[in-house]
Amino acid sequence: MNLSDFPRVRLAHLPTPLEHMSRLSEHLGGPEIFVKRDDCTGLATGGNKTRKLEFSMGEAVKQGADTIITVGAIQSNHVRQAAAAACKLGMACEVLLESRVSDPSEIYSKSGNVFLDRIFGANLRQFDAGTDFNVAMKSVADEVRRAGGTPYIIPGGASNAVGALGYVDCGIEMLGQFKEQNLTIDHLVSATGSAGTHAGLAVGLRASGNDLPILGIGVNAPQDVQEERVYKLAVETAELVGAKDCVAREDIIADCNYIGSGYGIPTESMNEAILMLARFEGLLFDPVYSGKALAGMIDHVRQGRFTKGQNIVFLHTGGSAGLFAYSDTLLT
Ligand SMILES: *Cc1c(COP(=O)(O)O)cnc(C)c1O
Repeated sequence: MNLSDFPRVRLAHLPTPLEHMSRLSEHLGGPEIFVKRDDCTGLATGGNKTRKLEFSMGEAVKQGADTIITVGAIQSNHVRQAAAAACKLGMACEVLLESRVSDPSEIYSKSGNVFLDRIFGANLRQFDAGTDFNVAMKSVADEVRRAGGTPYIIPGGASNAVGALGYVDCGIEMLGQFKEQNLTIDHLVSATGSAGTHAGLAVGLRASGNDLPILGIGVNAPQDVQEERVYKLAVETAELVGAKDCVAREDIIADCNYIGSGYGIPTESMNEAILMLARFEGLLFDPVYSGKALAGMIDHVRQGRFTKGQNIVFLHTGGSAGLFAYSDTLLT
């Protein structure tokens, strides 16, 4: 497996730090908890999409694209990072926004990520939930071509095999840090949504011969759907890097019990987790992904599934820009 074979543009500050959260660990009284700071990737307030976009944008540049087309929810962190990456590479950015949250507040519709998308000059178009975005993005691509441009489509969350390479790389990077810091890690925990992060991590670790268990905490789909989504993408990613069959279906585990009433809808436990990490560690997480994933990790500690004597790594996937869109619900 050699990632240097793939086109890549440098967008992220790497390696991101791996830090011990001593006050949180002590407060919860269970395992020692570490945080992999992918909120510090550096592009437009950071987050996990930056790593993926290094490879997606690498492909776009290689194909001579001058316009990026992508899709996300109104408060998509992916869209914000893609819009910034397009600016850095001198490309236009066409964005299809899905109105996934019904009855959004004024703040949700205008603040946070979508505000930053506008700062980056992305062209935003709004679509109803359930739109077929493959079709819609192709039609925008045709439009760009008719105007003389060269489009490149990045799927939602940059979660195809090319984007997942960013997390293959992150998995390898973490193995190096565990060794450097002389750490034996028992479990890795991450939010899992469009699946590229989880799939890439699985491939990065398994193709390196490492069997560290990975727990994905789901944020939208039921467990069977989420695990299949991750597994399918892991298989494609493994093939792309020449490590076919390195990930088994039963190795992909998603716990989808912390979604609450739906994607992007706040839960009590997410609210508690965000305030806990802010007040014990001075860290900011987000309501849609990393906050719900933290709620899952905290619950696993409280239930005794992660115990004293173990070392756990929580992957901080970023998203704090989305906090501002929830300023009317988080502190109530
Ligand atoms: C997109 C995102 C995730 C989920 O990553 P996927 O690769 O889509 O599964 C997690 N956290 C944040 C903050 C995100 O923006």
